[in-house]
Amino acid sequence: KAAMENIIWRRSLQLRSQQQFWQESPEGRKMLEFRRSLPAYKEKDALLMAISQNQVVIISGQTGCGKTTQIPQFILESEIESVRGAQCSIICTQPRRISAISVSERVAAERGEILGETVGYKVRLEGMKGRDTHLLFCTTGILLRRLLVDRNLKGVTHVIVDEIHERGMNEDFLLIVLKDLLPSRPELRLILMSATLDAELFSSFFGGAPMVHIPGFTYPVQTHFLENILEMTGYMLTPDNQIDDYGQEKMWKMNKQAPRKRKSQIASAVEDALRAADFMEYSSQTQESLSCWNPDCIGFNLIEYLLCNICEKERPGAVLVFMTGWDDISSLKEKLQAHPILGDTSRVLLLACHGSMASSEQRLIFDKPEDGVRKIVLATNIAETSITINDVVFVIDCGKAKETSYDALNNTPCLLPSWISKVSAQQRRGRAGRVRPGECYHLYPRCVYDAFAEYQLPEILRTPLQSLCLQIKSLKLGSISEFLSRALQSPEILAVQNAIEYLKIIGALDEKENLTVLGRHLTILPVEPKLGKMLILGAIFNCLDPILTVVAGLSVRDPFLTPLDKKDLAEAAKAQFSRDYSDHLALVRAYEGWKDAERDLGGYDYCWKNFLSAQSMKAIDSLRREFCSLLKDTGLIDSNSYTCNTWSYDEHLVRAVICYGLYPGICSVVHNEKSFSLKTMEDGPVLLYSNSVNTRESKIPYPWLVFNEKIKVNSVFLRDSTAVSDSVLLLFGGSILKGDTVGHLKMLGGYFEFFMKPDIAEMYQSLRRELEELIQN
Ligand code: ADP
Ligand code: MG
Repeated sequence: KAAMENIIWRRSLQLRSQQQFWQESPEGRKMLEFRRSLPAYKEKDALLMAISQNQVVIISGQTGCGKTTQIPQFILESEIESVRGAQCSIICTQPRRISAISVSERVAAERGEILGETVGYKVRLEGMKGRDTHLLFCTTGILLRRLLVDRNLKGVTHVIVDEIHERGMNEDFLLIVLKDLLPSRPELRLILMSATLDAELFSSFFGGAPMVHIPGFTYPVQTHFLENILEMTGYMLTPDNQIDDYGQEKMWKMNKQAPRKRKSQIASAVEDALRAADFMEYSSQTQESLSCWNPDCIGFNLIEYLLCNICEKERPGAVLVFMTGWDDISSLKEKLQAHPILGDTSRVLLLACHGSMASSEQRLIFDKPEDGVRKIVLATNIAETSITINDVVFVIDCGKAKETSYDALNNTPCLLPSWISKVSAQQRRGRAGRVRPGECYHLYPRCVYDAFAEYQLPEILRTPLQSLCLQIKSLKLGSISEFLSRALQSPEILAVQNAIEYLKIIGALDEKENLTVLGRHLTILPVEPKLGKMLILGAIFNCLDPILTVVAGLSVRDPFLTPLDKKDLAEAAKAQFSRDYSDHLALVRAYEGWKDAERDLGGYDYCWKNFLSAQSMKAIDSLRREFCSLLKDTGLIDSNSYTCNTWSYDEHLVRAVICYGLYPGICSVVHNEKSFSLKTMEDGPVLLYSNSVNTRESKIPYPWLVFNEKIKVNSVFLRDSTAVSDSVLLLFGGSILKGDTVGHLKMLGGYFEFFMKPDIAEMYQSLRRELEELIQN
């Protein structure tokens, strides 16, 4: 014991002198100066005091005040100063992988270290951490996974849950688990950090835990709503919301450069604005009215016009544009790159910032551009609170974000651009006033802003709960409904029941809601239950290779790109890979082609020609490897055997395994004279997504399609489908691993009877009678 203490003491001393040494170097001094200028630094003592005296502390403070980068460091430094120094282990969770990586890099740089020494990170598929890592930034999912195998978080001294105001599902779940853990770990410290002032909810959840607020400072931000922007273009809104063209002539005359072009540009910007104004006519200050706004109308022209204006007339400073998602960002980026001013790389540095970008790409966002070059960052809501770009002076806010929502009544997930909350709009605006007074352009009228909800609905209340329910079971947290009723805000009972029902149908839970063997395996695989099922069966049936590709492909952003202006070409490119009425098999072929091309030329050319995303292809590649090693860990495949691919070339078998995974995602194909229509039991008529290979067919010689996902937009659309035969559905639909053939047939019977296929219904009826007799005897 004495020797151990000696080692720890020596290591603390070493860490301390390292820091001293760094802080005396010129760069270290500069870093320290920067750190000391952050609002969080002024609260350092108060924060550390609160943390040492309370098991749970809730910290709030404006974005950029130094919560994420400083507070974990304060704790680390104070621990190093104390005797326990080299013993502390601080885990700080981030909702997104990109913030976990970028923050850990930043903190290591502030401490003059390389990543992986004292400070490290761990996200899915990537990590940098060593034996001496005392401060680990990880995604919330990683900590939840660790809890699976290490219930008590042995050795961990501090858990910091960051960005709790976002109310992500993982964070809400983690808070219930940690709350239960606290009594048995009195030494463990839990620190919650939020960018908004809604700390009371969390405080009362933890029995009145103390709250510490970090007062911040921001410069004033001038706010322009749509009506003010319209005025800038020379148009004005008359009191009855008509557009008045007063002043436009004057404005065009003032502009000497290329007046023609300018004129048409303003005209299309105004057109965007006009569409918005159209909307204003029936906006009557209610949430309902917001749904009348066409969400596709993001106003690209208006954004282009504003950016151009800023570049030509405004003082220096970076521009941050909030868009709804990756697709918008890439189309807007393409449009801007073709613009004479905005596309001129000697004047404008155009960057994108979104959750799936590579970590090398994100570093550029923080760099200061050369003098005379204006940085424009097109971002998703990730730049709202988790990433702070220091030199932003102008913000353009489209007012929407892609949000997953879940319609419990129809049991259908939706991914739609929807209006942000007031709090989000304020956050976005606040990004402009960090270094000096700024400007914010909201691309919607004031009255729309007034109708925004105060806060966004927490994720747990708006997404399907299947994976969450499995996790609850595998952590042995008791009854799912009871556990979820203890959440900060509990999900609808119907949504919980739907999830449990689904897990029973796919055979992950038994009738008594206990985890089955299949269910236990599913919790180890970090994919949706249905995809996990596919992997397991692919391994058992020795056709793993194509299944690895299918599952990896369904877990990343769609690798088949469809740029708006080249839609037909892109769809034709995808169709070349199609054979046998399956989007999933098309992906398998596309990936195999890429793999060959990658070996020779890196694969970029191949991706370009075939409208494939090279980034997604690479992600598929590394996910395949991850799944493979997880399957080896579970013992489902041998570590050095190739038998798991004996049947990989049998497309019928692969199709059957896909069916096994996607069941009960199934629709029937109804042929009429020239084409076919589709129906599901729950929704009635449904449509295929336009980029599905099956939309190009006039006939599908199979009676069923299994699909990965259905999404409600205005009708219900199916994404990625594979045609299957009756016999495949009969044998592979349902839960064959459970061995409950009667139950399985009963369920299938429901489908057959619904779709009125008399011959099969009859066949099933007699099969079922036979089986029941057999079992009774
Ligand atoms: P908070 O978590 O309170 O929003 P952070 O701790 O993330 O704030 O950031 C504090 C400050 O550090 C901000 O001013 C931000 O600009 C700066 N910063 C954060 N990450 C980086 C980075 N990778 N490069 C440069 N500056 C950064
Ligand atoms: Mg932060």
